[in-house]
Amino acid sequence: MPVSTAPPAAPTAYADFDALRRHDPEIAEVVLGELGRQSDSLQLIAAENFTSPAVLAALGSPLANKYAEGYPGARHHGGCELVDAAERMAVERATTLFGAEHANVQSHSGSSAVLAAYAALLKPGDTVLAMGLPYGGHLTHGSPANFSGRWFDFVGYGVEAESGLIDYDQVYTLARQHRPKAIVCGSISYPRHPDYAVFREIADDVGAYLIVDAAHPMGLIAGGAAPSPVPYADVVCATTHKVLRGPRGGMILCGSELAERIDRAVFPFTQGGAQMHTIAAKAVAFGEAAAPAFAAYAHQVVANARVLADELEAEGFAVLTGGTDTHLISADPAPLGVDGKAARGRLAAAGLVLDTCALPYGDGRGIRLGTAAITTQGMGEAEMPRVAALFTAAMREEGEGARKVRAEVRALAGRFPPYPG
Ligand SMILES: *Cc1c(COP(=O)(O)O)cnc(C)c1O
Repeated sequence: MPVSTAPPAAPTAYADFDALRRHDPEIAEVVLGELGRQSDSLQLIAAENFTSPAVLAALGSPLANKYAEGYPGARHHGGCELVDAAERMAVERATTLFGAEHANVQSHSGSSAVLAAYAALLKPGDTVLAMGLPYGGHLTHGSPANFSGRWFDFVGYGVEAESGLIDYDQVYTLARQHRPKAIVCGSISYPRHPDYAVFREIADDVGAYLIVDAAHPMGLIAGGAAPSPVPYADVVCATTHKVLRGPRGGMILCGSELAERIDRAVFPFTQGGAQMHTIAAKAVAFGEAAAPAFAAYAHQVVANARVLADELEAEGFAVLTGGTDTHLISADPAPLGVDGKAARGRLAAAGLVLDTCALPYGDGRGIRLGTAAITTQGMGEAEMPRVAALFTAAMREEGEGARKVRAEVRALAGRFPPYPG
């Protein structure tokens, strides 16, 4: 049954664009233009979502003015009593929501959270085993363009050619061969649940830390729609803005024995002053994620992705791993005669906004999309066949036909406004 989970109408404090228009018309034009763009096209980028008006209100609040280096009760600045309360609430809500002993909610982003996890557990030159970038590893999992690839010795595991699933035998073999100090489990495009118990076993076998980078599934985990890595991992890193639907930012969960090392790795080792408006907004998001409506949302996100994956396969896309367990779909459009880059361009012209992704065993690139944002707008399984049909139409039509597809996408988006009113 499709569940309506559209956010409530925006409060006037957040929607006071008239004042911004008078004060800075140029930036107001960008802000309102972007609101229009987000409202009249479909946001299928797997990492994006529509955060609630309450989260936006906290982000746009005077907490943005406050300097607060350190942690609640131990700050380097005066006047932190109120922001301390916000951070304590964020930590308390995060530990309760995810069943963790400790939470650090100060990381400015998912990448900063991963950087802090490495800083807490590793020394430069240590060996780390993570999913290779061609298979869906993140930049922070050993890309030569990133600090991780420069400072650590990364070894990459992959997926099985046939099934597209993580090759656990290979993970085990590489772990025994390279004796990594840490194993990283997490991906930007893997659409299935990793087997955290198996990763734990392998890590224990070689005496490695297990770091789970749950940036993508954290919201599904919060809503009980994906298994939790918390009982298995030494450290869980995540973003708060993807399916979790909070402000842009990061978080780290760990057991009490690593709490102090993690906290010191975030501040003062890799960051300065905490962003207290964002931390208050994280607290709001954790509060929202604890409500039964969010569990319904998380399950609907997965139900929508399952139907959309099936429908895209029926339209001719080669869906990696044959489907999804999550909000994420990775697919190769080659059977339709285009590669991922061309597909992204054609889809964007139709108002279907998504990313390309690496293809583990194909030529060129694939496409990667997710259902987090369109589900927040209130779309259910009933809308997914229509979305898939618009995909194929966008790939085929040109000229007048393409303009018609764009108008149809606009009409569909218009029926599900992300910020009604
Ligand atoms: C999104 C993501 C990150 C980084 O998050 P940012 O907030 O963009 O820095 C890290 N790891 C994984 C697996 C991700 O999907």
